[in-house]
Amino acid sequence: MQSNIKTGYKETKSVMTKSNGPLGGYAVNPYVGCTHGCKYCYASFMKRFTGHTEEWGTFLDIKEWPEIKDPKNYAGQKVIIGTVTDGYLPQEELYGKTRKILEELKESGADILICTKSDLVLRDLDLLKEINEKNRLTVSWSVNTLDEDFREDMDDAVSIERRLAAMKKIYDAGIRTVCFISPVFPGLTDIKAIFERAKDQCDLIWLENLNLRGGFKKTITDYISKKHPELLPLYHEIYTKKDRSYFEDLEKKAEEMARTNGCRFVDNETPYERVPKGHPTIVDYFYHEEVRGTKNSGKRNKNQADQSLPKGDASNVSAR
Ligand code: SF4
Repeated sequence: MQSNIKTGYKETKSVMTKSNGPLGGYAVNPYVGCTHGCKYCYASFMKRFTGHTEEWGTFLDIKEWPEIKDPKNYAGQKVIIGTVTDGYLPQEELYGKTRKILEELKESGADILICTKSDLVLRDLDLLKEINEKNRLTVSWSVNTLDEDFREDMDDAVSIERRLAAMKKIYDAGIRTVCFISPVFPGLTDIKAIFERAKDQCDLIWLENLNLRGGFKKTITDYISKKHPELLPLYHEIYTKKDRSYFEDLEKKAEEMARTNGCRFVDNETPYERVPKGHPTIVDYFYHEEVRGTKNSGKRNKNQADQSLPKGDASNVSAR
């Protein structure tokens, strides 16, 4: 386990936070902070609400909450575990807070989505199977590269191979899985290669573009200048001149990939379905922050381009 993390405790009245994102429902973050410390973390803006002065990724508060009295209140509600942290950080092994919330919700009838970059979720496989019998349950892993060196440059989570192996085990256990290709780094993320690697072990593939905003814009731009200077003009076009053609082209390629592989391609929807092996539904979340509302909105309205979310809103799908 990481030894340089400053840990503390935080008492809270409830761990269930009503979400104002397009999916509605509740966000559950059993920890404050996230020790995966991703360089592009959309949730790092949260630091200013935590009272911490340390760098994002180097502190963690363990939440304490009173037991949920009436879990049935959440029946049919979307409950997303891990929107501004990862419920399966290495520290979960010791504190078990994600397991606690899963135990509390196991009879709730909620529609539970776990977002992670870890394989520690396998520790809870028996519990997940039990939950899956009475609730909707989905587990999603963020995979935006197959290149472990790039992955290591970007986060302190487990390797991509471990994430994919965990996805396969959960999928083989009959639980719905998602390969969340996010964030898609222009010129670096190969969505086709990831699709090929994951298609037989997931029901959904989500695609989300890299947003560069807030504190991490400089970090990522410096990284690109140092490691991939040839991509700087492209990043300048996309993130300074706001040129959308790269992601529009990618969107077309993803749609074509869906067609050739007999997969459904949808825009900003989250269909709850199991699909035949090898034919995951591909969900286009590019620029999804432009679609705001409590229901899935179907086709993106490009005229809404100026009505984007307030800067730093990471609660829409997940921070990852
Ligand atoms: S992007 Fe997600 S996994 Fe990475 S540090 Fe942020 S909350 Fe944690």
